[in-house]
Amino acid sequence: MTALFDWLFRRRRSAPTAPPPAFLCSGCYQVKNSTEMHALPWWNPDERAFFMSIRCAECFPNSLGEARTRVRAWDREAERAFRAFLKTWRIESHLPELSGLAPQAKAEAVLEHVERTSGRTFAAVFHGQTP
Ligand SMILES: [Zn+2]
Repeated sequence: MTALFDWLFRRRRSAPTAPPPAFLCSGCYQVKNSTEMHALPWWNPDERAFFMSIRCAECFPNSLGEARTRVRAWDREAERAFRAFLKTWRIESHLPELSGLAPQAKAEAVLEHVERTSGRTFAAVFHGQTP
């Protein structure tokens, strides 16, 4: 028993370098190193909703473009969906500057923030919360 315990815990402590945490990109479905994780609100046309989505560096720009396209074509559906996204992820507690903006301007400001931070803030939100 002691040998098993020692083996388990020594092995963990003495591992030369732990592999970096990985994630599955929901754009290309490849496992990537978390250092290249970007998160953003992405419009899912099948679900008619914005989801917090995780993308690798290669997929991030196109996915952000898709979100922008949906926000530019603003309508009641987009407003309902974006409002739900903001509430689910408590985005306004992370971005108090959104307070007072009209709904579409709020969505545009969120996407500008995501672009400016390369989705790093939202990756932290994604890791820190479970909706
Ligand atoms: Zn990808």
